[in-house]
Amino acid sequence: MTIKIQKKKNCHFCGAELKRKYIDGIQRLFCSFCKTPIYENPIPATCVVVLDKDNRLILVKRSVEPKRGMWCLPGGFMELFESPERAALRELKEETNLTGEIDLLLGVRANANPVYGTVLVIGYLIKNFSGDMSPGDDASDIDFFVYDKSMPEAAFDSHDYFIRTVFNNMPLLQQKKELL
Ligand SMILES: [Zn+2]
Repeated sequence: MTIKIQKKKNCHFCGAELKRKYIDGIQRLFCSFCKTPIYENPIPATCVVVLDKDNRLILVKRSVEPKRGMWCLPGGFMELFESPERAALRELKEETNLTGEIDLLLGVRANANPVYGTVLVIGYLIKNFSGDMSPGDDASDIDFFVYDKSMPEAAFDSHDYFIRTVFNNMPLLQQKKELL
């Protein structure tokens, strides 16, 4: 996959045209008017592996780019002043109409993204949820899937990683449930 990041042309503080300048050994965007480098950082996002009692997981079919038409875990970008856990549960509600409780942090992955450069994806496991499942604005379909070869390929590497993390560690996760 070729990554072409959308270029920022103007300073978001003063609107002046940005230049490129070597600072700390890296070519960075620089505003000559504000006399400051414009630092670019990964965007944090969350996703959730939601399991039902039969260990089927929820996937949503994307109706928006990137990866429109592919299936992925429910999730999305964190908002300012929001905790990652709250972001994960908010996205779950928006995309599936389900209310859930975080069970476990599965890990953190960096995903190459055509628009943002790098998205930092935080994955959680959810086993307790309630509500009537229905797809949100960003999805054209939603369903439970058995983890086998018939399951559609996940749209993002990070989502695939979190799904594999759950199913490769199922005995451990079940043990954890007994400990709680
Ligand atoms: Zn500026």
